[in-house]
This record gives sequence, structure tokens and C-alpha cells, in this order.
Amino acid sequence: MTAVLTAPPQTRTAPAATLTAHDRCDRCGAQVRVRVLIRMGQGRHALRLPLDFCNHHYNEHSIALNRIGAEIVAYLPVEGKSEVYL
Ligand SMILES: [Zn+2]
Repeated sequence: MTAVLTAPPQTRTAPAATLTAHDRCDRCGAQVRVRVLIRMGQGRHALRLPLDFCNHHYNEHSIALNRIGAEIVAYLPVEGKSEVYL
């Protein structure tokens, strides 16, 4: 009997996220507050694509993002506030 070995499925991941004041919302161009990774595809060809959102657009889309399993990888707190509401 011959064993057949296959490579485990791999997921390509975007580089570690660091947000700055210069990063812009993909939707409107305002300052980014949240970066999420969205999984596209399956198996070894899966990609995890970053999407950047301002507070307004993150709040508008947060339920849908949560539903599809988007992963929050970075956020930038609002100046003067010690917490961010995600
Ligand atoms: Zn926006």
C-alpha cells in the first residue's frame, strides 16, 4: 500500500496591520479606524484580503462583516478616547 501525502491547505495572509493617520477608508477616504481581513476562496487558493473602514462605514457594515467571519486585525482609537467601540 502506498501512502499519498498532500500539503495541508494554506491561507495567504496580508502583512501584519499597523494603522496610521495617513491610512484611508476604502469606501469614502476618511481616516481609517478599523482594518479587517476577509477570506476569499477556499482551500489552498484562499486569500485573506484587507479592507479598511472609517468609524462610520465600519459601524454601517459591522453586522455583515461579522456574519461572513471577517477578522479585525487592527484599529486606531479615536483621539481623546481610551477605548474604541467595535
Ligand atoms: Zn468611510
